[in-house]
Amino acid sequence: MKRTTSWTSALGMLPPVKRRTKIIASIGPACSDDATMKAMLEAGMDVARLNLSHGPLETHIERLGQLRRVAEAAGLPIGVMADLPGPKVRIGQLPEPIELADDSEILLEPGNEPSHAGHLFVDYEGLLTDVQLGDRLAVGDGSIVLQVIGHEPNALRARVLYGGQTQGRPGLHIPSERLRLTTPTPEDLRLLDAMVDHDIDFVALSFVRSAHDVRRIGLEPSPRGPLVVAKIETQAAIENLDGIINESGAIMVARGDLGTELPIQELPHLQKEIIARCIALGRPAITATQMLESMITNPSPTRAEASDVANAVFDGTSAVMLSAETAIGDDPAHVVATMAAIAQRADQAFDYDGWAHKLRRGQLLERQGQDSAVTDVMTLATWQAAKEIDAKAILCITRSGFTVRAIARFRPRAPILAFSPEDRTIRQLSMSWGATPIKIDRIDDNVITVHRVLELAKLQGHIRTGDIVAVLGGSSATIGATDTLRMVRCP
Ligand code: ATP
Ligand code: MG
Ligand code: MG
Repeated sequence: MKRTTSWTSALGMLPPVKRRTKIIASIGPACSDDATMKAMLEAGMDVARLNLSHGPLETHIERLGQLRRVAEAAGLPIGVMADLPGPKVRIGQLPEPIELADDSEILLEPGNEPSHAGHLFVDYEGLLTDVQLGDRLAVGDGSIVLQVIGHEPNALRARVLYGGQTQGRPGLHIPSERLRLTTPTPEDLRLLDAMVDHDIDFVALSFVRSAHDVRRIGLEPSPRGPLVVAKIETQAAIENLDGIINESGAIMVARGDLGTELPIQELPHLQKEIIARCIALGRPAITATQMLESMITNPSPTRAEASDVANAVFDGTSAVMLSAETAIGDDPAHVVATMAAIAQRADQAFDYDGWAHKLRRGQLLERQGQDSAVTDVMTLATWQAAKEIDAKAILCITRSGFTVRAIARFRPRAPILAFSPEDRTIRQLSMSWGATPIKIDRIDDNVITVHRVLELAKLQGHIRTGDIVAVLGGSSATIGATDTLRMVRCP
C-alpha cells in the first residue's frame, strides 16, 4: 500500500484525466452487428471508418445508418468517415488466405479475376507497360515485397523478396511515379456523391499528391459539406504538404502506403513533422496503420505497439486509428478499450506546458485572411488566460467548429466544451483533440448564450458553481470570427 503511494508521488501522477486523444475504428465483417458496434462505442470509439475499398457501396450506406442508430440508442456521439479508395491498385479477390514463400516466383496478370498463390490478378490495365524490370511492388500494408524479373506475353514474372501471408483484396503498391492514375478517380466521385447524399461527416481522400487533388473533390466547405481528410501516403504529398493541409479539413498520416513509397526509416520523423505542421495550422491530424496490428489475433499488444500509440499522442496526434484490428480482428471492442487505455495514460503524461512553445509561431500567425488571423490571436489569448488562472474548462461557442479546432491546437490542460447548434459540426468535432461536443438549440445574443452554455455545462456535470472558466464566442455579425473572450465565475 505504502509502496503504491510513494510510487505515484515519485512519478508525479495526477488523478486520471478524461481521454483527450480521439479513437477512429474501421468497420468490417468483425463488427457489423449492433452489439459489437455498441461495445466499441462504449469502449471509446469516437469515429467509425468505412473503407470503401472493401465491399459494396450499399453495405457501407447500410452500416452508416446502423452506426448512427446504435449510437443514438446508446446516447453516445459518433462521427462517420468514408475512406475513398483512390487510384489504389488491388489484387483480385483471394478466395482464401495465401502464403507467398520467400524466393518463390509468381505471375502478375492484369485483370480482376480471383487470385491464388503463384498467379495474382492485378486491377491495373497499365501493369505490363508501366511497371519496369527491377521495380519493387509491395503487397498489403507492405510486409510482402515482390521484384519484377521478367515480362511474359500476358503477365509479369516476379520474385518474392520478402514473403508472408495475405488475404482478402490486398493492395499492390506500385511506385507512384509509374502510375498514370489521378485522384480522386471517377469512381471516388461516384462513391462520394452517394455518401454525401447520406450526410457523411468526413471523407478521406487517398493518394493525394497536391492541393489541386483536394480541390477537385469540389465539396461545399464544412460543416455544410463533410470535412475532407487528405491521406498523406505519397512522396509528392510530402513535398506539397503545406498546400495540402491548407486545402483540407484534416490530415491522415497513412503509414501503410507511405512506408512502401519511402524508405521505412523516413517514417518516424515524417510522422512528427506532418503532425506538427498540421496542428499548427489548426487541423486535426490522424495517425494510422498497424497501431495495434498484433491484436488482430492476440489479446494484448506488443510493447512496441503500446509505445507507438503513446508516442503518437506525444507527437501531438489528434486521433489514433485502427484498421484491420477492428474490421477483421478477433475482438474489436477489446482492441478499442486497449487503445483507449494507452491513449488516456499518454494524455495524462503529455507535456501540456511544453507543447504550445513548440508550435511553430511563424506558421501560426501567418495565416491568410483576416478572419483566421482574429481567431488565431483570440485562441492564443484564451489558452494563455486559461493557463494563468487554471481555468476549470474552456467553453467554446461555435457554428462551424473552426474555433474549437483552433483552440485545440494549443493542447490546453482544461477540458474543451464545444457548443454548437449544428448537428454536423457536433459530429465533426468527434475527431477534434480534447473536445466534448454539446448540442445547443441556437446561438443568439452573446450574453444569453453565455448564460445558457454555463447552465448546460453545470447540468451535465462538467463544471460547478464557483469554478472559473473561459468562454470563447463570437458575434459573427460584426467580424465573422470568434472575437469575444470572457473569464467567468460559474454562478
Ligand atoms: P487502405 O489503403 O485504404 O488502408 P487497406 O486494404 O489497407 O486499405 P484497411 O482498412 O487498412 O484496408 O484494413 C486492413 C485490412 O483489413 C485489409 O487489407 C483487409 O484485408 C481487411 N479489411 C478491412 N476492412 C474490411 C472490410 N470492410 N471487409 C473485408 N476486409 C476488410
Ligand atoms: Mg490500411
Ligand atoms: Mg491506403
